Amino acid sequence: MREIEDFTDDRLKTWCINCGHAIADIVSNRDHVPTKSLLTKALRDRGADYDGGSGEELDYLPQVIICRNCNSSFSPDENYLLCVLHAVMAGSLYPDPTKNPEAAAILRSNRQVVRSLKRGPDGQLLLFDDLQPFTLFPDAEKVRRVIVKNARGHAYHEIGEPLLEAPDHVAFMPLERLSPEQRDAFEAAGTPAELAVWPEVGSRMTVQLLDEEAMVGGWITVEADRYRYSIDWSNGVTVKTVIWEYLATETRWER
Ligand SMILES: [Zn+2]
Repeated sequence: MREIEDFTDDRLKTWCINCGHAIADIVSNRDHVPTKSLLTKALRDRGADYDGGSGEELDYLPQVIICRNCNSSFSPDENYLLCVLHAVMAGSLYPDPTKNPEAAAILRSNRQVVRSLKRGPDGQLLLFDDLQPFTLFPDAEKVRRVIVKNARGHAYHEIGEPLLEAPDHVAFMPLERLSPEQRDAFEAAGTPAELAVWPEVGSRMTVQLLDEEAMVGGWITVEADRYRYSIDWSNGVTVKTVIWEYLATETRWER
């Protein structure tokens, strides 16, 4: 198996970035950031080829090491978010398998999630309440857990920063709900690299910043129309993601 490119300082590999347990004491797994199921099957397959040692450089998918407990505890939430996205994109909890084969297959094999999404609100944030053509009632806490997990993974992988504490701020909303001003602020690339404080020496981001065009907080596309993210560490750490060009997220740790 080919070794995954990893510039992160060895000291930082000591703890699971999600729960803070010492990795040496527990069973650990490699975990993909972002959540692999959010990418197309074609890209997942190419990533698997790469992991197996037969792929091309471009097929590399970022990974971090987390404990097995955390890894398996995130799976139901990741699956849940996937169902929500498929339902929203297909415009139905029962999509036509000929038009939306992937969505239809995922939702058909997750009947429990489908049932829960139809249930009325019980005080949770209504994310998709007035979007046509139908109403969904997603559990914001489940979605939030996946967003924070990916944000931690991105920060760790890119700038070598283990953010063990709970974030100070987590927000997510369909991109189309942002006002033009909010959208501009959200999409803004941030600070030119030469003006910014650089991250941990030797982290993956310091290598990218050697490129003069690089911006702190610039967008990195994992897969077009599926997943992009940006990290700004100039004042606290802010991780933004856009999932399926639909859901905009922002997770922030103050210093
Ligand atoms: Zn853990």
